[in-house]
Amino acid sequence: MTIQHDIIKARMLGLLIAITLLVLVFQTWGPERVLVPGQDPDTHIESIDDRGNGGKSVASLRRDGEKFILDCEIIPSDYQWPYCEISFSLADKNGKGMDLTNYEQVKVWARYSAPQEFGIRLQLINFNPAYSRIGDSNSFKYNAIELFDTHMRYPQIIDMRHMQVPTWWLSQGKIPPVYWGPEFRDVRGVQISTGENVTPGTYQMIIERVEISGKYISDRSVYLALLSLWILLALIFFVTTLKKANIELLNNKQRQSQLEALNRLLNQEHRKLEDRLTRDPLTGVLNRDGLAPLFNQSWEPGSTPLLSLVFIDIDHFKKINDTYGHNLGDQVLLAFAQALSKNTRTNDLLARWGGEEFVLACPETTLENAIGLAEKLRRAIEKSEWPKNLQVTASFGVAQMLAEESPTEFIARADKALYTAKAQGRNCVRASTHVPAVLVAVK
Ligand code: GH3
Ligand code: MG
Ligand code: MG
Repeated sequence: MTIQHDIIKARMLGLLIAITLLVLVFQTWGPERVLVPGQDPDTHIESIDDRGNGGKSVASLRRDGEKFILDCEIIPSDYQWPYCEISFSLADKNGKGMDLTNYEQVKVWARYSAPQEFGIRLQLINFNPAYSRIGDSNSFKYNAIELFDTHMRYPQIIDMRHMQVPTWWLSQGKIPPVYWGPEFRDVRGVQISTGENVTPGTYQMIIERVEISGKYISDRSVYLALLSLWILLALIFFVTTLKKANIELLNNKQRQSQLEALNRLLNQEHRKLEDRLTRDPLTGVLNRDGLAPLFNQSWEPGSTPLLSLVFIDIDHFKKINDTYGHNLGDQVLLAFAQALSKNTRTNDLLARWGGEEFVLACPETTLENAIGLAEKLRRAIEKSEWPKNLQVTASFGVAQMLAEESPTEFIARADKALYTAKAQGRNCVRASTHVPAVLVAVK
């Protein structure tokens, strides 16, 4: 499932990369839109001269096929900047100009009929209510450039970013700095006129064609759109990855806690199983196997551990069973084990050896102390209250582990001491001393 998702994601990414490349290629080398002023037969085209400014120059315009011929006679007068000019209107029926902000280039096929020292001026005039007044063409911003060598470089190609606003126009209109740069938002006309340093005389200007070309969408808009798209994608990727990682982390935590719970359960079960194997189900104390580790441990050679054993056997237990039944016998057994547990120290290990016989293993306990403990237990049993007001007593056999003695020999000595206690009247404690067993009477 995740691999499939990854494949889909990779495909989508590939598609987006392809789209991005396509858009970039299209934007850089793709077709451009081209505006040709004067191509539309309805375009208002006229010749203008300095007579409107108080000068005397005379311009006239005629068409020769596709070409325009501007005949111009520059006549000196009081007006300082004489000129002749052809003007193509870009305004629509409502007088609104064209937004050429996305256009980049102007190609001009214009020259004098004979080479001249002075140039040809190209102007795109822009309207902006901030500084322009309708009816006052001088208040429109001149985005201008002067073209020289028009016979050598033909057509002239002008990067619109290189057009400038003449300082005379800025100072004449007292234009604030914010409007000093070229502007093409509402271009109302394209003008081609004699250059700044025109000298008096008769000239002929042939204007074959003007082309204004540019991208359909500005580079800036395209790059901004692509950048926004990729940022959006990166954001989506970032958010979804973070979300997924969080969910996975949560799942992992849950899985971990589930495993931990399972582990705890298994440990419990293990302990229960171990208990079942090492504990006596009736009394809850250890069974013979439960005590085995005590004897199986390896002691350093030559060193005898300080360990005493007390063998305990209920006196005439068979009679209880026979008189009151096995169930009551069991109850007595349980109560007997509890009475023993209650009166033994935590370090001592109590085990049911079999039937109504128990063993108390007392580590770090001398024979003397073990005898004391056995005596204490004997009295406790004697004084305890029993079901059916029974009088229950027990016999005790005590031994301390001797040097080089095997556990079997040691157990046998303790058992033998118990046998002696039984033989010597029961309800008493007997201890085995050195090998061969010399039995010490305690009570
Ligand atoms: P003594 O004083 O010589 O020890 O006499 P006793 O009757 O206690 O000894 P004996 O070994 O003759 O009898 C032990 C009896 O304990 C025999 C058996 O039926 C009984 N017994 C053994 N295990 C259990 C048990 O789990 N529950 C019950 N109720 N009785 C058991
Ligand atoms: Mg018995
Ligand atoms: Mg017995």
